[in-house]
Amino acid sequence: MDCLFCKILAGEIPSTKVYEDDYVYAFKDIAPQAPFHAVIIPKKHIQSAADINSENSIYVAKIFEAVATIAKENNLGQGFRVVTNCGEDGGQTVGHLHYHMLGGRLLAWPPG
Ligand code: 5GP
Ligand code: ZN
Repeated sequence: MDCLFCKILAGEIPSTKVYEDDYVYAFKDIAPQAPFHAVIIPKKHIQSAADINSENSIYVAKIFEAVATIAKENNLGQGFRVVTNCGEDGGQTVGHLHYHMLGGRLLAWPPG
């Protein structure tokens, strides 16, 4: 399958690991939008948030367990944002479900 994040999972494309367990892999975004910017992905190809269902939602639960751990390990006690872009209007550019975790600065709301 021609999926960039599956290639990162397979180690075919190098990445800087932030966190890993049996369900989840997180790595530094190549174009960080904040002092801390990780991309958190399931270790299973799910296209987007629109494809989450009762069969695969364990991966989403594990991602959010990882978020809490990543926050503690990276001193994000002051706050952070977790966001997933879905589909064309949502600005999704890689078709493998992922959550951006951003922190280390005051984040504006709402996003553009
Ligand atoms: P999206 O735009 O789909 O929400 O997010 C995709 C993210 O993946 C972008 O923030 C982009 O910078 C990041 N990205 C794209 N290609 C690579 C890559 O090869 N390595 C890493 N570490 N991040 C990537
Ligand atoms: Zn994939």
